[in-house]
Amino acid sequence: MAVPRHSHTRSKTGKHRMHLYIKPASLGVCEKCKKPVRPHTVCKNCGYYKGQEIINVLGKLSRKEKKEREKQIKEAETK
Ligand SMILES: [Zn+2]
Repeated sequence: MAVPRHSHTRSKTGKHRMHLYIKPASLGVCEKCKKPVRPHTVCKNCGYYKGQEIINVLGKLSRKEKKEREKQIKEAETK
């Protein structure tokens, strides 16, 4: 088996590790509510994907929360 003749310098180690970092998630914008969403993913705020309702977001909310959410979505649509 080959044995390395020299140990890496700190500089060399640093140079190959400069690509090891977490990249920020690429985000698109929801067509319905204009919130940032990950691509190819159902929007968590309004439950829509490709113009179709996939998840009934309002179903599990209490009355108060429901009203607020409906208001938010309507506001975003009018913008
Ligand atoms: Zn949305």
